[in-house]
Amino acid sequence: MRSVYCGVLNASNIDEEVTLCGWVDRRRDHGGVIFVDLRDREGIVQVVFDPDAEDNFALADKVRPEFVLRVTGKVRARSGTTVNSNMATGEVEVYGTALEILNSSETPPFQLDSHITVGEDVRLKYRYLDLRRKEMQKNLYFRSKVTNAIRNYLDDNGFLDIETPILTRATPEGARDYLVPSRTHDGKFFALPQSPQLFKQLLMVSGFDRYYQIAKCFRDEDLRADRQPEFTQIDIETSFMSEEDIMSVTEGMIRKLFNELQGVDLGDFPRMPYAEAMERFGSDKPDMRIPLELIEIKDLMKDVEFKVFSAPANDPKGRVTAMRVPKGGEIPRKRIDAYTKFVSIYGAKGLAYIKVNDKGDLENGLQSPIVKFLPSEVCKAIIERVGAENGDLIFFGADNCKVVTEALGALRCKLGEDLDLYTCEWAPLWVVDFPMFEEIDNGGLTALHHPFTAPSCSPEELAANPAVALSCAYDMVLNGCELGGGSVRIHDQSMQQTVFEILGIGEEEQREKFGFLLDALKYGAPPHGGLAFGLDRLIMLMTGSESIRDVIAFPKTQSAACVMTDAPGAVDNTQLKDLHIRLRAKPQSEKVDSAGSEE
Ligand code: ASP
Repeated sequence: MRSVYCGVLNASNIDEEVTLCGWVDRRRDHGGVIFVDLRDREGIVQVVFDPDAEDNFALADKVRPEFVLRVTGKVRARSGTTVNSNMATGEVEVYGTALEILNSSETPPFQLDSHITVGEDVRLKYRYLDLRRKEMQKNLYFRSKVTNAIRNYLDDNGFLDIETPILTRATPEGARDYLVPSRTHDGKFFALPQSPQLFKQLLMVSGFDRYYQIAKCFRDEDLRADRQPEFTQIDIETSFMSEEDIMSVTEGMIRKLFNELQGVDLGDFPRMPYAEAMERFGSDKPDMRIPLELIEIKDLMKDVEFKVFSAPANDPKGRVTAMRVPKGGEIPRKRIDAYTKFVSIYGAKGLAYIKVNDKGDLENGLQSPIVKFLPSEVCKAIIERVGAENGDLIFFGADNCKVVTEALGALRCKLGEDLDLYTCEWAPLWVVDFPMFEEIDNGGLTALHHPFTAPSCSPEELAANPAVALSCAYDMVLNGCELGGGSVRIHDQSMQQTVFEILGIGEEEQREKFGFLLDALKYGAPPHGGLAFGLDRLIMLMTGSESIRDVIAFPKTQSAACVMTDAPGAVDNTQLKDLHIRLRAKPQSEKVDSAGSEE
């Protein structure tokens, strides 16, 4: 139907006859001449209709925004003053000689430009229109370029693209499963994969050696701003590659993407052990663009009378730390109050600070509600340790280790953003040497990555002191976001059983849930390992989008619903009967609000 896209026309096309198909972006009647901005996925071009071509003109008079047109015309240069340098096609216009209205359109519920004023719910309800907007077209276009570059890179490096099932058994990645009732197996359920983890490991047992898949994963968890119940992973697994080899090939992929698509050289990614990341930056995914650090001062606070500091300083599970904010003395009191509220989200009971007005005058040069509780030699030691200069501010965290780490880690990022402290545009990093397990509330242990991650110690050491064992896991972090994570896996059946036991998964449950894996490990499983990247988050970072929803064609809302299709939806009784399911009314105590999903 068309000879060329609207958005690609330029001076080199002058005098060509073209046929265009697209949507009316704008229509203007300039006293006898009608201008139609015609839009397709490549961009917009101006089409001119004048009354000399009577039929066309009459038709053009009828068109309205979002009508679908087919236009034939001649490309011509715009005259000097009408050249539009803001438009890619702004040097030319098309003089329309034939016009066909392929379809009309109702007035859209919102204007399809970048000055979007409607709420996201309206955008998502009419997503097919929202996606016509330039920003969204650009994002999905870019996403396609990224997946294409990834496929090329992995293909060049000998990886095979292999699909794994969507209807499967639970794959533990720390979230709830989405369940699908089976019609043919009464009372039984499939689980949608939280990741292809076990299948990709089995593919290694089968000898495929290098696997990848751009895979949909499903996790039913409480949604946070950058999470979706279904999301896409670039899932990778390899055999006979060391931790070092895996990191090198995947780092190469991300470096190439940034090189090819952003013109950015990310350089070699530095490495940092997990313990150091938590200690110095209060996060297992530190944003290395921000030059602020948490500095331990536990030893300085052991003997002070100020209980807020001395109690955690004398508690083995406590942490007392200081963070110097250069020139932070300018932060107004009101803002500090807002930060105090901010850290309370992480359980911090307060946010002590000292403004260093004159470090040479410890009596009068320190402005703070807490200095009166601290001996001046302690103040002096703190100032020296954090390297504070006049005009700086020092924030303090004193509580149990978890609260201090999380609160000051989050505050560090917030200050980085609020005070625009970023020292560079991109800061990639590998975080390594993760613990195998973390403690849960009931005193038990849970896998920090997943239960298939190999320990970096011997089986004996693991069994003797699992709480301190480290794993062969690695996370790739970019600008404070976890881009991807993976590990070398356990390929030895008895080691896998040991880990299950440490996790409190008894023999019967092991067989029931993971019998197929344990069996496979008995038949010559090669040493293997891999990693998965979150594709949505990667695209979000690369496009500078604010929300992960802006890089997904049809995302879910924060409450895990689709407002366009109205999913999840009710099903009729016949379908339920086929599935042997009877809904029960939700007990009063479980009802969250009247808009909840009561049956
Ligand atoms: N399956 C892991 C995840 O989804 C990634 C991996 O270990 O390869 O996070």
